[in-house]
Amino acid sequence: MEFKGKTVLVTGGSRGIGAAIAQSFAEQGATIALNYAGSQEAAEEIRDKILAMGVECKIYQGDVSDFSQVENMIKTVEEDFSGIDILVNNAGVTKDSLFMRMKEEDWDKVIDTNLKGVYNCSKSVIRGMIKRKFGKIINITSVVALSGNIGQANYAASKAGVIGFTKSLAQELGSRNIQVNSVAPGYIETSMTESIPQNIKDELIKKIPSGRIGSPDDVANAVVFLASDKANYITGQVISVNGGLYM
Ligand code: NDP
Repeated sequence: MEFKGKTVLVTGGSRGIGAAIAQSFAEQGATIALNYAGSQEAAEEIRDKILAMGVECKIYQGDVSDFSQVENMIKTVEEDFSGIDILVNNAGVTKDSLFMRMKEEDWDKVIDTNLKGVYNCSKSVIRGMIKRKFGKIINITSVVALSGNIGQANYAASKAGVIGFTKSLAQELGSRNIQVNSVAPGYIETSMTESIPQNIKDELIKKIPSGRIGSPDDVANAVVFLASDKANYITGQVISVNGGLYM
């Protein structure tokens, strides 16, 4: 029970990668604060699964792109569980189109959720982490932050921003015993990727040395490792979980 006595806030924990991350921490005894935006039923389902494991879990509705909502949510979590030890900035959206056709609102939505959301949540948790001289922040970026991708100028920019943010915050907080890292998944089987047509998925798989699309658990394993004591000397890094798609 590596994480017994530790509280983890996972943003976007109602489905996909976030839900897998929350359940992986719960399996190792962590108390889970599960954030979601709109999928209340899905969040309740994950909460119930976690409670059935015999650990504490509460769900928190809140839009990560809204600073005051995040501030209030984090205050409530800290009151409920007397602090947050580990923050996983996982919430994210895509609004894909070729740049020539990309609407300003689609640019703003993706940057506000994926990048400003990371600012909002990190800003609100670090005060408590600094006070307790302990913290782990893990930001979910993407392979396309490193490679770029046609139709994802907004998304790739937001996720590349997360990497720069991770490295800067890691330098600022290293002396406070707070480690800040990023995990960059490749293509992972979730609702975010389910609309990719099968023929394109098949072509994609040919380019992945591991020969398959990743699972949410593949990503969760890396996140849990980075949050563990075994990773205490790792900070400011980007760990790719992409089956070798991009090296
Ligand atoms: P999903 O679309 O399956 O889930 C997204 C999650 O983010 C949901 O829980 C959703 O909540 C939440 N969310 C969206 N907007 C907000 C918001 N404004 N405030 C709070 N929560 C929000 O995505 P994945 O699980 O696939 O992706 C998780 C992360 O991994 C994202 O950051 C994504 O960019 C990244 N990623 C995913 C890859 C993939 O192939 N799937 C590859 C690389 C990176 P709700 O259900 O309530 O809407």
